[in-house]
Amino acid sequence: MQSVRAYSIYPRGRFAYRAPRRLRLTLFMAKVAINLSTGSLQQEEIIVGIDLGTTNSLVAYIHPDGRQPVAINDQGRGSIVPSVVHFPADGEAPIVGNEAKPYLLTNPENTIYSVKRLLGKNYGDLGGHAAQYGYKIIDDNSEGMVKIRVGDRFYSPIDLSAEILKELRARAEHALKTPVNRAVITVPAYFNDSQRQATRDAGRLAGLDVLRIVNEPTAAALAYGIGLSPDEEKTVAVYDLGGGTFDVSILRIQQGIFEVLSTNGDTYLGGDDMDRLLVEHWTGQLGLASQLGGNIPLQQELRLLAEQAKKHLSQHDDFQDELTGGSALRISKAEFNALIQPLVDRTITSCRQALTDAQLSTADLDAVLLVGGSTRVPLVYESVSTFFGQQANNSLNPDEVVALGAAIQADILAGNRRDVLLLDVTPLTLGIETMGGLMDPIIGRNSKIPTKAGRQYTTSVDGQVNLKISVYQGERDLVRENRKLAEFDLRGIPAMPAGLPKVDVNFILNADGILKVEAIELRSNTRQAVEIKPQNGLTDEQVEQMLMDSLVHAKEDVAARMIIETRTMAEQLIYQVERFVDKNSQYLTEEEIHETAAQVQNLKDVLAANGDKDAIMRTVDTLEELTSPFAERVMNISIKQAMQGKRIE
Ligand code: ADP
Ligand code: MG
Repeated sequence: MQSVRAYSIYPRGRFAYRAPRRLRLTLFMAKVAINLSTGSLQQEEIIVGIDLGTTNSLVAYIHPDGRQPVAINDQGRGSIVPSVVHFPADGEAPIVGNEAKPYLLTNPENTIYSVKRLLGKNYGDLGGHAAQYGYKIIDDNSEGMVKIRVGDRFYSPIDLSAEILKELRARAEHALKTPVNRAVITVPAYFNDSQRQATRDAGRLAGLDVLRIVNEPTAAALAYGIGLSPDEEKTVAVYDLGGGTFDVSILRIQQGIFEVLSTNGDTYLGGDDMDRLLVEHWTGQLGLASQLGGNIPLQQELRLLAEQAKKHLSQHDDFQDELTGGSALRISKAEFNALIQPLVDRTITSCRQALTDAQLSTADLDAVLLVGGSTRVPLVYESVSTFFGQQANNSLNPDEVVALGAAIQADILAGNRRDVLLLDVTPLTLGIETMGGLMDPIIGRNSKIPTKAGRQYTTSVDGQVNLKISVYQGERDLVRENRKLAEFDLRGIPAMPAGLPKVDVNFILNADGILKVEAIELRSNTRQAVEIKPQNGLTDEQVEQMLMDSLVHAKEDVAARMIIETRTMAEQLIYQVERFVDKNSQYLTEEEIHETAAQVQNLKDVLAANGDKDAIMRTVDTLEELTSPFAERVMNISIKQAMQGKRIE
């Protein structure tokens, strides 16, 4: 489901009305191999493939001798980089990976893990899970992306993912002894477009030009050599059990196009749960429960031993060790299997559902591919093979397979695989302007055409009846740096309170590169459309210049976008709080009204003084902490009154 944006494209009346025109403007198309791999954008440069995982991340590339994908293993530290970021108290640079892991228990509030789960989400999306993280997730405005508070600073999941990507990039550069500027990054098939955009932004913050965001199951299939020839037709299931998440995808591969027929899974189910079950088992067996609370070294030791035992049992029938105090720990494979059976059963239920949703039966599948470290558990392998009625394929390293596939995708984009079908793509992002003059991408650069994509918007001002849609092309975050293609108004939206109208903006790009943009207000079915036709294409040089500019300005662009988004969010909050107090003053005390006004003024002052992101966020935080009990109170009163047959606004 796509989220409704809290903000209008423009507040009412900011622009004079102009009748929609038919525009004949330029859209440029290219064959991937020509535009993305040649010309001034450093020809022979390596493009890496990155698996940015919830638990572990890694980077791979195509080895020039043998042209096989290889996971990069810098300085013998192994290819896997745990997706953990620790912020040392002294404000030094963050520590990423294995070195950051021990702080998960000793200094949890400054150590961020599983940030991928927060990417592109607002607080409401977390649905009660926010409290279970060891670090502080801020409940900011309902529609804004979550922020994480570390000491006095606020980080977005994009900032934190960028730290992981920077580490991967540094490792790749160190191992390959060459600058790495371009990458393909994978995401789960179920990621929506704000999560994909967030991943892209994280890449850019890490100084990477993200050529494409690829679905993890697609990457896995590519790594297994599926979909590399144009005449191949296959249907496969990709079963991915990682550290904290599980998903299964059914893919249909036809003429080099990977279509996700269905996905299913559980974003809170994985190998960590196996470890937890084992810790609970031992704790019960040894009567450790009373010693465990607050005893971080003991918790840490048990957790590490549990993971070690699990991995050991993937190859042996029995595990034995002892705790520092001397207590013997034992677990047999049969006992372990019994512990995790319910967990494995849940994954099989998801597989069944995925098949049903794809309207397929197990016999329709040409292959079942295993991905994720936890598929090394023999019970998982056996259960999956039994359910699908065929041996699951686990011949590639399940930790690496997604990154390897991403490297193959990168190689295809680089034009190094002449045998692979090249599809028409749109070389520059297409999007519309949103509040603050930001570019909101709708069809991403490098999208295969024909394609169709849309997003939903709403108004920010009560009674807003017009919405201006301005269509842009380009990679920069601020529309003023991009090319304007068209502009029209969606007029005649019935007057409603801010946030209620639902406006779908759809981009339909056909095989000839003609873009049709339509806007529909769903409640009233008010609609307006414009067609933009290709004409006098941009030259290759111009496209390259635009791509180059976006790289050169990536950091300042992302920073500008973030500050604008934060400011817009703060402005919306002020608007909402003032409106709320206006309407509900009878339910608030004099003091509360006074204090709220003072905090609102505070926030206005910070905005007027051009405060930085952290300063704005701190003030927003205070204002929200102050006012959220009021909203709850009024809600309760309003429910009571409604039950008594009265109504309040
Ligand atoms: P993600 O995709 O979520 O980042 P991974 O695919 O890297 O995660 O999987 C990490 C999980 O795999 C961890 O829970 C880890 O304990 C588990 N794992 C790794 N190796 C083994 C093994 N040999 N046996 C069982 N589980 C393993
Ligand atoms: Mg993974």
